[in-house]
Amino acid sequence: MAYAYDPENIFARILRGEIPCDKVLESEHSLAFRDIAPQAPTHVLVIPKGPYVCFDHFANEASDAEIVDFTRTIGKVCAQEGVSPDADGGGYRMISNCGRDGVQDVPHLHVHVIGGKVLGRMLPGTKDHD
Ligand code: AMP
Repeated sequence: MAYAYDPENIFARILRGEIPCDKVLESEHSLAFRDIAPQAPTHVLVIPKGPYVCFDHFANEASDAEIVDFTRTIGKVCAQEGVSPDADGGGYRMISNCGRDGVQDVPHLHVHVIGGKVLGRMLPGTKDHD
């Protein structure tokens, strides 16, 4: 499978510092920042710094170090944002839209970490293709 990465996508431009972001945290291989159009009190995007289009691209081709770093960054975001599930409630949803059928708008792998309220069932009122 050949994945075609567009280096002019908006998250690549954020990584190059060409446009700003509301940074939550940064690690060697990953960056977390707030979604510009939040869907819940917590809505953070976690991206790898490497040029990966979607999750399966990353899973198939990223190094072990990148995969560990990305996963740990998601864990740290959950802790920092206070959305980890505990006895009092909490919790969150992770979403990674991939490709046409996943209705992915930005073609650089990102995981949405969404929480801070009860989110309802998965996939209510999903948006369709244009
Ligand atoms: P997706 O449909 O999964 O590709 O989601 C792309 C997400 O990127 C959307 O939730 C947008 O609100 C978000 N987004 C687009 N541009 C920016 C930006 N400059 N900074 C932060 N989030 C952005």
